[in-house]
Amino acid sequence: MSNLETNRVYNFNPGPANLPLEVLKEAQAEFLNFNNSGMSIIEISHRSKPYEEVHAQAKADILELMNLGNDYEVLFIQGGASLQFAMIPMNFASPEHKGNYILSGTFSSNAYKEAVTLGVGEVAASSKETGFHHVPQQNELKINPNAAYLHICNNNTIYGTEFHYIPDTNGVPLFADMSSDMLSRPWDFSKFDFIYAGVQKNLGPAGVVLVVAKKSLIEKSRETLPTMLRYDTFFKKDSLYNTPPEFCIYMVGKVAKWVKSQGGLTAMAERNAKKAKLLYDAIDNSDGFYRGHADKDSRSFMNVTFRLPNEELEKKFVVEALEHNLSGVKGHRSVGGMRASIYNAMPIEGAEALANFMDQFKKAN
Ligand SMILES: *Cc1c(COP(=O)(O)O)cnc(C)c1O
Repeated sequence: MSNLETNRVYNFNPGPANLPLEVLKEAQAEFLNFNNSGMSIIEISHRSKPYEEVHAQAKADILELMNLGNDYEVLFIQGGASLQFAMIPMNFASPEHKGNYILSGTFSSNAYKEAVTLGVGEVAASSKETGFHHVPQQNELKINPNAAYLHICNNNTIYGTEFHYIPDTNGVPLFADMSSDMLSRPWDFSKFDFIYAGVQKNLGPAGVVLVVAKKSLIEKSRETLPTMLRYDTFFKKDSLYNTPPEFCIYMVGKVAKWVKSQGGLTAMAERNAKKAKLLYDAIDNSDGFYRGHADKDSRSFMNVTFRLPNEELEKKFVVEALEHNLSGVKGHRSVGGMRASIYNAMPIEGAEALANFMDQFKKAN
């Protein structure tokens, strides 16, 4: 291994986040001359054959991994997951058919806020009053039968909680922000009508949102909206109405291929469960030195959040972790403490190293 490789840290940042080393190396090797075109992928036309192949293959691999058929379409849209918070109610909700929201953390609350701004938001359940320690369970949901959709945030990146069930909506279309756990586990994606993910957590570099949605739904975008805010623009033009972020989509395609080569979503889920167990065990076996934020039944397999006995120790933990090549463990300011993001690309050795460090740190302090 070169120094450049051996000097890499275990990167626990929440997003942008670590990507598989194999993928980075492949992109590096192809960077100057993509597919014998004599040009870099970032220098070629989005109407060229080499790019079109990248685009089509990425879409096909994503649908295959999600085990979805051609009643679903894959779209690539810019503006981040945050623009989806607005585009969804703009396209699909109305004062008569409001968007229903489960508030389970920061991002679901931000999504709801956009719907409220448009006069079309309604809360179906919330764990805000109890500090977002859990995701609302089925028996807590009050879904309006006239709702245009129920929106959930599948994994709450900041609080470290995750849905471990798929809500039964009684026929109301189910929409999900899967930014931070997309392609991390096999899931019955066919129960969802609309899924989206900012790719910078688990799928690639920042710059594009992956949307996977039912064709019959995205055909019905609101006609009074500007072109670039309508889903059917992206659908009809294969996400090539305007210049797409080619490099991002190329990287997402490479990550999807990598996931396939590792054994698909089942293999990802097994690895992710092992990593999560190492860290949750370190918390649970610490005699209260580490306190997990999430209730046990809502624990995230992607973002492990925990506090230490006091803020001084938390600061010390961050500094000493970095000395052990464990980077990015500081939690979000709204929760405090630590957050270890262990997305698909985090090797098991990384989680082992952090669990060992947690053990040592506890003993020393
Ligand atoms: C990071 C994140 C977002 C925000 O994504 P942007 O692309 O920065 O707008 C939204 N939802 C979830 C679950 C996230 O983790």
